[in-house]
Amino acid sequence: MTIEGIASEPGDSVIGEFDVVIIGGGPAGLSAGIYAKRAGLECIILEKGVPGGQVLTSPSIENYPGFPEIAGMKLMEAMADHAKRYVDIKEGEEVLRVRGGDKFEILTNSGRYITRAIILTTGSTHRKLEVPGEEGMMGKGVSYCATCDGFFYKGREVIVIGGGNTALTDALYLRSIGCKVSIAHRRESFRADKHLQESVPKNNIEVFWNTVVDEIVGKDEVTGVKLRNLKNGTVHIKPVNGVFIAVGEVPTSQLAAELALDMDAGGFVNVDKSFRTNVPFVYAAGDVTGGIRQIVAAVHGGAAAALACFEDLMNPYYRR
Ligand code: NAP
Repeated sequence: MTIEGIASEPGDSVIGEFDVVIIGGGPAGLSAGIYAKRAGLECIILEKGVPGGQVLTSPSIENYPGFPEIAGMKLMEAMADHAKRYVDIKEGEEVLRVRGGDKFEILTNSGRYITRAIILTTGSTHRKLEVPGEEGMMGKGVSYCATCDGFFYKGREVIVIGGGNTALTDALYLRSIGCKVSIAHRRESFRADKHLQESVPKNNIEVFWNTVVDEIVGKDEVTGVKLRNLKNGTVHIKPVNGVFIAVGEVPTSQLAAELALDMDAGGFVNVDKSFRTNVPFVYAAGDVTGGIRQIVAAVHGGAAAALACFEDLMNPYYRR
């Protein structure tokens, strides 16, 4: 069995055969790796970057049990080190194509993997505002990652867009490193956790309620944002040096589509309570499945998916 059209491409040799290949090395993938390997399955994690996923960019995590306050990077380093005790993590290994059959074939930038099962933990990426100026000034004042880029705006004026946990965490982080921060949110209340909401006024962060961004203004770099109040229709340009966009996530579900997995209208993979998808021997967990999108939930999903996979591989008749 070969993947049509790419069988003769470079990086085509079979790297290994596994019981299960885990695609994605965030919290869900790392947890799945630990549980799969401890259950006795031959397994590998393929990660296109470095392990850790989006949590790596979280300045501070305060709701992962056992760690009252820890930087996202530190937590993920600990989780990856733990996983590496059991399972190989191939870093820089990008999955390009995947194809089902008796066994699955996975083609990456460096070769081919054959596997009896797949756990998809590909996560999600930042949603864009899709307004004029956003794409052209990405990296020139437009950012989706406060911890990555915030440093460059120390002492300068920035605005955060969004009203969820990410937006408020980012705003508080930017304030803490010495930026002058405001928030624009399209509603008149935040959906973020209460304790984050309470920190906003305490830190003198101005909020533009019921406000959307019509345009990010600037030529070579951001000089302002055009804000529109949804209640009274007034428009004004607020001068800023940086715009930090935190308006949610879109699932990374291209591979799910290739595997013909059921997805909801937003492209999140549908799974049952054991994290099985509609395709036998394919499981999904973490942000690619939507839900509450918390680290604890991703860790749970990865573990449950690995155990369901073990059950199905050991006793196929048990399935569903
Ligand atoms: P989120 O909870 O989906 O919030 C996205 C925010 O952006 C919402 O306020 C939404 O407004 C707004 N929004 C969406 N599309 C928009 C658009 N086109 N224009 C303007 N505003 C728009 O996303 P998130 O904050 O990235 O969080 C994702 C998940 O990670 C959540 O489950 C969150 O709880 C979790 N998370 C947790 C922590 C933590 O616990 N410490 C930290 C970060 C993230 P509406 O409210 O009007 O829909």
